Amino acid sequence: MTEKIKMNVPLVEMDGDEMTRIIWKMIKELLLEPYIDLKTEYYDLGLVKRNETNDEITIEAANAIKKYGVGVKCATITPNAKRVKEYNLKSMWKSPNGTIRAILDGTVFRTPIIVNSIRPLMRTWEKPITVARHAYGDVYRDVEYKVEEPGKMELVFTSEKGEETRQTLHVFNGPGVVMGMHNLDKSIESFARSCFNYALDMNQNLWFASKDTISKTYDHRFKDIFQEIYDTEYDAKFNDAGIEYFYTLIDDAVARVVKSEGGFIWACKNYDGDVMSDMVATAFGSLAMMTSVLVSPEGYYEYEAAHGTVQKHYYQHLKGQLTSTNSMATLFAWTGALRKRGEIDGINELVEFADRLENTSIRTIEEGIMTKDLASLSELENKKIVNTEEFLLEIKKRLEE
Ligand code: NAP
Ligand code: MG
Repeated sequence: MTEKIKMNVPLVEMDGDEMTRIIWKMIKELLLEPYIDLKTEYYDLGLVKRNETNDEITIEAANAIKKYGVGVKCATITPNAKRVKEYNLKSMWKSPNGTIRAILDGTVFRTPIIVNSIRPLMRTWEKPITVARHAYGDVYRDVEYKVEEPGKMELVFTSEKGEETRQTLHVFNGPGVVMGMHNLDKSIESFARSCFNYALDMNQNLWFASKDTISKTYDHRFKDIFQEIYDTEYDAKFNDAGIEYFYTLIDDAVARVVKSEGGFIWACKNYDGDVMSDMVATAFGSLAMMTSVLVSPEGYYEYEAAHGTVQKHYYQHLKGQLTSTNSMATLFAWTGALRKRGEIDGINELVEFADRLENTSIRTIEEGIMTKDLASLSELENKKIVNTEEFLLEIKKRLEE
């Protein structure tokens, strides 16, 4: 056996909950620790520990990502009323992903893992499409009003000096509805930089779209900010890399995406990203094959699976039953983080190992060994459905061939 790969700087490791916590441990023990002298700074973001620390652990983990640059996170429970009872929580703690995203000011990029025997519903798609969703403002932080009687709705801005600017939104003769929303230049700028950086990282074209012809101030501001930042900071870098920044109207973008062969990054405004990421994920096959990375405008990275803690499988597991849970997205969170660590620290072996582990796991599925969720999607004639651990062991077997 060859020597284990050495690391210099630790990865920020964030453990999580339920079935993904079980998978997390298996991946480390079977596929990472035997080959890498794994160096991590461990944060337990499992709900029990978050409750114990009044969620301080989540903030500490986010700050550690700022310190070391790269993190890998297991899926975690976002508590609701039911979870407060189940875990006897002191408080209904906020979503860890939301907390980390707010501290890193990052953008989430979601990319499907493509395997040969699972064909996307869109026949033209051959390469992954990465959707980047702006995660601040618009309809998600709006103020809404239900008009019940005739009257005038106005948009009033009062400056700090007390000067008022008024615009009539609508004069109502009868009932109706009104919505007010906002965004911030600063947030749009961070979003733009994260997208440009990630496009350079992936060496892929970046698309962005809005409805600037109709929304001549609001959406137009997004278009202008992207263009200004592109022209002043990224044009030369994109030219050197041989990639393009492409802006178009959102409806044109949707039509082009459907007809495309994939292989680009699609930056979306908040609502567009919410809707389109589900469309893209479904068309590519399965949420269990979707990876996710949070990229901050300063260039910090946090990798994770796009799916949750797979609660139903965990309850099966607790009853002593074998589960057939797909570990691909969680495994790719690890390989993504290890590759990035390798790139930043100049450790080629680590980059190569990440590539090899990804290729081997894809090959395992392409050779017909897969978890239950993929069986109905795969076009292969001979399929062997394996349980959670067997799947990882099959990868390991191929890794050692
Ligand atoms: P989920 O964990 O994504 O699972 C929903 C269903 O999708 C599962 O029951 C399973 O379907 C299928 N599925 C998802 N991932 C799979 C995998 N790796 N392998 C096989 N099947 C998979 O969503 P949820 O059950 O709605 O949420 C559970 C918990 O996760 C919640 O507490 C939520 O707060 C949390 N969550 C966390 C994150 C995150 O940390 N990023 C994201 C989303 C949700 P079948 O049961 O039909 O097999
Ligand atoms: Mg959605």
